[in-house]
Amino acid sequence: MGLADITSISPGIKHAEVLLTHSHWDHIGGAADFASVSVFDSPFEVERLKKGWRLEEMVGFSKEFFSAPFPADFFPEVFDIPGVNEFTTFKDQENIDLGNITVQVIHIPGHTPGSACFFIPELGYLFTGDTLYAGPEYLHLPESDWKQYFLSLLKIKELTVNKLKMIFPGHNGFTASQELLDRHILAGYGFIQPASIEQGIDDFGSNTKKYYGDFSLMIPR
Ligand SMILES: [Zn+2]
Repeated sequence: MGLADITSISPGIKHAEVLLTHSHWDHIGGAADFASVSVFDSPFEVERLKKGWRLEEMVGFSKEFFSAPFPADFFPEVFDIPGVNEFTTFKDQENIDLGNITVQVIHIPGHTPGSACFFIPELGYLFTGDTLYAGPEYLHLPESDWKQYFLSLLKIKELTVNKLKMIFPGHNGFTASQELLDRHILAGYGFIQPASIEQGIDDFGSNTKKYYGDFSLMIPR
């Protein structure tokens, strides 16, 4: 999020290879501090990464949401996210060679047009960004497409089947199991067929929020 310079935690980390799942403010905040940054080749992600974010554009930013104290030199009233000038892009199902490990890019439009997750087949690890986590999934944003989102879940399933061992989500917990993916897929099916596992429904501004136990889906009404 860029609340503090995370590269200060270790001298070598500045030269880490930073792969972005998408260009929302809470995922690119520290990107400008790194030497090597890449994002999916899609106009939304590329433009937002170049531009950064001003405070008034950051949907969901509220200082009341923070559970830990702010760093001493952070002032939420004047917070903004710097853009990144130099970065590279990757494409769907590209294999990124990181020396001792290969990371497979899976393009999963839905939350944003150029959202990507990263799969390490050798380990069965999947990094999902904002596409899969416990908690509310933001599918109601102007840049979101909830129908694409459900297709993307099926794509993840297809490309990781029998290999997926652990999910590393973008929010609300460090790990999640494959079962979370399966229940999201079932929830998506409920939007086509009568919902079978839905547990509640709320008005959420001009959107709808449906509950499924430890996660919910926010979609336009
Ligand atoms: Zn996001």
